[in-house]
Amino acid sequence: MSPGRRFTGQGAAPGIAIGPAYVWPRRGQAGGAGAAAGARRVEVERLSAAAAVAREGTRQIVRQAGRTLSRAEAGIFEAQLLMLDDPNLVGRAEEAIRTGGLSAEEALERAGAECAAALRAVPDESWRARASDVADVVGRVLDALADRPVPSLPSFDHPVLVVAEELLPSDIVAFDREKVLGLVTQAGSPTSHASILARTLGLPAVAGVPSACDLIREGDVVAADGASGEVVVGPDPVEAEDWRARQAARREWREGLRSRAHLPAITTDGHRIRVAANIGTPGEAETALANGADGIGLFRTELFFMGRASLPGEDEQCGVYGEVIRCLAPRPVVIRTLDAGGDKPVSLVASGGRAVMFASGRSSQLASGHEDVFLAQLRAVLRAASAAGEDGRAGVRRPGEAEVRVLFPMVANLADVVAAKALLARAAAELDARGVARGEVKVGVMIEVPSAVALVGLLLHEVDFVSLGTNDLARLTPCPAEVPIPTVLRLVAAVADAARRAGKPVAVCGELAADPRAIPVLVGLGVGELSVAPPLVPEVKQVVRTVSRREAASLAKRLLTARPVERATGDG
Ligand code: PEP
Ligand code: MG
Repeated sequence: MSPGRRFTGQGAAPGIAIGPAYVWPRRGQAGGAGAAAGARRVEVERLSAAAAVAREGTRQIVRQAGRTLSRAEAGIFEAQLLMLDDPNLVGRAEEAIRTGGLSAEEALERAGAECAAALRAVPDESWRARASDVADVVGRVLDALADRPVPSLPSFDHPVLVVAEELLPSDIVAFDREKVLGLVTQAGSPTSHASILARTLGLPAVAGVPSACDLIREGDVVAADGASGEVVVGPDPVEAEDWRARQAARREWREGLRSRAHLPAITTDGHRIRVAANIGTPGEAETALANGADGIGLFRTELFFMGRASLPGEDEQCGVYGEVIRCLAPRPVVIRTLDAGGDKPVSLVASGGRAVMFASGRSSQLASGHEDVFLAQLRAVLRAASAAGEDGRAGVRRPGEAEVRVLFPMVANLADVVAAKALLARAAAELDARGVARGEVKVGVMIEVPSAVALVGLLLHEVDFVSLGTNDLARLTPCPAEVPIPTVLRLVAAVADAARRAGKPVAVCGELAADPRAIPVLVGLGVGELSVAPPLVPEVKQVVRTVSRREAASLAKRLLTARPVERATGDG
């Protein structure tokens, strides 16, 4: 028997799956053109009624997701619910019907395509991946317009590996976990919501396999490795046996990791490295805790401000921050103030009932001229810091037991930090004047723009800690191809060195903190905290446990002083 055919895609959710393929049917096109374009009022009403049906359908998915997923993933669909109220989507389509005489279907598809194109134009991959959420939402409204039932997987009498052009988040939650072994898709990427959901569900997934739907036929046996992106179609018996052995070994390894996740991550020479979690919704705090996180190293608060008709108020924010602080107590929680604008298209931030685009280029949140927004957020953080310490409930920290830290993003110069701290002091004074209880918070800045690295010595005088945002730092610092290590590691080294001299802690909260190849270097450079996506905490802790900080320090030194490799010129 000949060996199977091999393909390579992108590993989107780790795990090994082997089984017969089910080729997911191609998505149908939108229904007919609807009522005559002239009947504009009728079309607007049809669209609005279909959006209401889609809203109810999405609420059902949220409830279903709440049962099978953590609240964080259910949050993906909550965010989709908000998209249905987004003036840039249904609102824009309604406008196109009124002014352009389009049918509801045409108008919605056009608005959806524009929203998705705007998201795909953002340099940040994680934002680009949100385009599939727009497609998911638009698809649901189109189904409602056409009065189509939501497509579902046929029921199988045996488990299958789903092969599809693209899978949307709602497809993934609809799958019967007992019957779906794994996913192979032509489109998609590791950062799409479908991939995030697959990771949460422990569903191995490979994305970006060109022509998968043409190359794989129904019933073909497929083996897929969601870490490496390797896919084999029709493995011979020896290959199949090998895949099954890999599958069993991985399962055993994961179980071992989970059982040790709640223990601290200590290097082989006795240094504790804190492994914290990055979260975007309060629900993710529970996932962080379940995965053994030593705290929240980055709470991205942008999500609350997106897709809303009105700003989240001080009380609402205080409630959310307090929930996270209580969930993690007595572990520390770092709350980052709103990081919007520029490549984070929080175009839906509303102020006083008005939609406002934070288009300031993210140089500093103060530059946006929305001081009132940040003051309200800072008051909410200060109040939450107090409530978490003083309400005396079981599991809640006692005063002074844990820290609430506020983190200012995109700081580019000293004036940014001084202004941010002045705002924090003003927020505290306002609460004191109102007689409202508040706590104390530590103050940190993100080091994520190159000028902040240059000024880090000065910035450190002003703050209690710094956190390296290596995602933005790498994006904003081109790395010449010939250098032996990425430039961003040199910047980390400079910041860690300055922090050591200032006696202040330094964390890394960008994706680099979860890269097993980078972790020894980061530890060797003196980084004391790695903050990563909640499900990655057990794995990152395990990598730390294999590292000797002393040896890692000399490895880092060797890397930083290595000379560029001579490159062959090819001209003889
Ligand atoms: C970063 O830039 O590395 C970071 C953690 O912030 P965000 O990804 O939210 O921009
Ligand atoms: Mg950033």
